[in-house]
Amino acid sequence: MKLTELLRQDRLTLSFEVFPPKTDMAFDSVREATEEIASLSPAFMSVTYGAGGGTSQYTLDIAKNIHKKHGVPTLAHLTCVSSTRQTVKEKIEQIHAAGIQNVMALRGDIPADRRHEDRSTWDYRHAAELVRELRESGYDFCIGGACYPESHPESTNQTEDIRYLREKVDAGCDFLTTQMFFDNNLLYRFLYRIREAGIFVPVIPGIMPITDKKQIERALKLSGSFMPRRFLDLVDKFGDKPAAMKQAGIAYATDQILDLFAAGIHNVHIYTMNKPDVAKSMLANLSHVLHA
Ligand code: FAD
Repeated sequence: MKLTELLRQDRLTLSFEVFPPKTDMAFDSVREATEEIASLSPAFMSVTYGAGGGTSQYTLDIAKNIHKKHGVPTLAHLTCVSSTRQTVKEKIEQIHAAGIQNVMALRGDIPADRRHEDRSTWDYRHAAELVRELRESGYDFCIGGACYPESHPESTNQTEDIRYLREKVDAGCDFLTTQMFFDNNLLYRFLYRIREAGIFVPVIPGIMPITDKKQIERALKLSGSFMPRRFLDLVDKFGDKPAAMKQAGIAYATDQILDLFAAGIHNVHIYTMNKPDVAKSMLANLSHVLHA
């Protein structure tokens, strides 16, 4: 199923993100975790693409497995900045051959040792180029792009970031998924600004339940997201009590999602990080809400 179809429906949904294993040895445990999440019947599941593409085959294997065994629509991520045009073309062929209809087109992070290179010679500099490539492939993919309610860390200001986002959407994105955020007001301001800039594709907010203290540092490093005082107080109080921190993090994310649904948003994506128990708790907390 194409996600465009799902996003047109008038119902509240949750989808989950998982990541592929980094090694062959970890494959079975990741497959089991992702299957357990798939058995909860989320609206769809996205499978990330390892930076640099070294584990790209696992992305497809996991996505294919979820779809085949559980009938859950999948969204395969694909990055381009560390790849040649030839490699990307091959990946696109493989995605199509695997029967995957939804692709998240990403630039990927620029490796630290390449940040000072002359980028004019690179095959890909921005995700918009990958979006175009997917559109021109001749396969009728449903294409997603990433967006950043607090701006991408490399952008000098939000106006510029939104201008480039518009270019990416115009290149052929059907929908956007946001970077994680912990203050919904940032999302509402962002939505207002992108609509004003002429971006009207569906935007799926991405929510990450923070369930342990260490995860906060990682999440902050990755996203540079603003942490509201209310959230920091929870970490202050429960950060050293793992069970309590987990419950508090899930409750905080649940509260964010309730607020998003109440504000009229229908589809929320949860960064479940291969944790079936977190996915289960989120669904249990919202079981009646999702069917209201
Ligand atoms: P782009 O859309 O290319 O934007 C990157 C920066 O370039 C922005 O600052 C933008 O304003 C700027 N820019 C865009 N076009 C131009 C232009 N024409 N001229 C000048 N500047 C321009 N990473 C992974 O490795 N694997 C994943 O699976 C993955 N999944 C993700 C899923 C989501 C929902 C999100 C939000 C991020 C994900 N990432 C993933 C991280 C992502 O790859 C990084 O944030 C990366 O740095 C930017 O990717 P992008 O696709 O947003 O890039």
